[in-house]
Amino acid sequence: MQLHELTAYELSKKLAAGEISAREVVAGYYERIQAVEDRVQAFVCQTRELAEKKAAEIDEKRAAGEPLGPLAGVPIAVKDLLCTKGLPTTCCSKILEDFRPPYDATVIERCHQAHMPIVGKTNMDEFAMGSSTENSAFQVTRNPWDLETVPGGSSGGSAAAVAACEAPLALGSDTGGSIRQPAALCGIVGMKPTYGRVSRYGLIAYASSLDQIGPFARTVTDCALLLQVIAGHDPRDATSADLPVPDYVATLDAGIEGLKIGVIRELVYGQGIHPGVKARVLEAIDTLQNLGAECEEVSLPNIDYSMPVYYIIAPAECSSNLARFDGVRYGHRTNRSVSDIYDLFAKTRGEGFGEEVRLRIMLGTYALSTGYYDAYYLKALKVRTLIKKDFDTAWEKYDLLVCPTSPTTAWKFGEFDQLALKLADICTIPVNIAGVAGLSVPCGFDDGKPVGLQLIGKPFSEDLLLRAAYAYEQATDWHKQRPAL
Ligand code: GLN
Repeated sequence: MQLHELTAYELSKKLAAGEISAREVVAGYYERIQAVEDRVQAFVCQTRELAEKKAAEIDEKRAAGEPLGPLAGVPIAVKDLLCTKGLPTTCCSKILEDFRPPYDATVIERCHQAHMPIVGKTNMDEFAMGSSTENSAFQVTRNPWDLETVPGGSSGGSAAAVAACEAPLALGSDTGGSIRQPAALCGIVGMKPTYGRVSRYGLIAYASSLDQIGPFARTVTDCALLLQVIAGHDPRDATSADLPVPDYVATLDAGIEGLKIGVIRELVYGQGIHPGVKARVLEAIDTLQNLGAECEEVSLPNIDYSMPVYYIIAPAECSSNLARFDGVRYGHRTNRSVSDIYDLFAKTRGEGFGEEVRLRIMLGTYALSTGYYDAYYLKALKVRTLIKKDFDTAWEKYDLLVCPTSPTTAWKFGEFDQLALKLADICTIPVNIAGVAGLSVPCGFDDGKPVGLQLIGKPFSEDLLLRAAYAYEQATDWHKQRPAL
């Protein structure tokens, strides 16, 4: 087995035992990146020199007998909307093309403390708005399973990098599905933790009440290891929860005997779920049952409103969050002559933002404007509460909920129209609306393309979610299959 095929867990064992050095690991990954990146195009920036320097430091520390965390020396790829001190952080937007933040996001700080070398920043839909990574201002990322298809989005670069073994682990952000959906389409594990589980400090915001940072990995164990590094309270993010972080790896193999699992009727049997996806998910539910879980159908009556609610709330928040990119404080400023400050704003933003971003800013501004606020934004907030209540009711009876992660497998570039692209998130968006936790785990293939099973857990039940995903993973071998590339 080649180095880049090892899981983060396997790598960490070899590193700790001194069988391999952090320098060799980093070198091995750049060899892999060189071999496949021209086809996959997952990275918008590679940070080889820094990663090598970091690896050398780690090897020295280990030689000196200093205590190191379990992932010390295990490389990581980072979505390009997480602030990395001194390194480009572009959100794959022209408006931030030259931005180098003066500070690290909390999750990046924690990766540094865990001694994980960062191999590069990954491609994404501009400001995390999209489902295919095609909205990036810079490049197109391809799905390693079929280079003619999209990797999903918006964290498509991170998902593709991990699926193509260009990194064992990656970080992404998920506002309506941007971790879970690309994880499903690329055949890997991806998790959106509970809102508040992971600090958002240094995450360039899209929709602050929905955004959450989370891990990508090829196995559930690796996902648990990375969550362990990034989870926990941060005084710099007022919405981060001041709760203890359980040992996610310790409980992985506790099994799911007797667990009550609700099968979400609307998202398994409802409109738009591709027959091949539905078939794999139903087989996965059988497997969960064979492992001792009790599965039964449950209805979440308001879940069908998730999409309209999301497309009011997310643009409303984005119109406010993205107001800071005005050509005055930082980021791109127009070179054209301007008549006054408003002209400067308009020209700068017109040049700097792509079409989808401009569309959402306008939509959100409209929904928040006097006269429409009550009709749209306030109404959406009320329906959001109803959706959350549906989940609260479900938790009275079920430990977990299950449904597909994405209604389809990866589609060809340009195959989906704007509506179909948005509907790619029907199964993931409700989880952000309700602020609960969701995880996608590979559950087979349809026509050679990966399918993801989504497990949903009550707030701060990441340990249970990982445990169930692990039980399922160990009973199957989907996670062992790799794209041919
Ligand atoms: N695809 C969804 C959107 O376009 C979700 C994006 C996300 O989770 N960041 O907004």
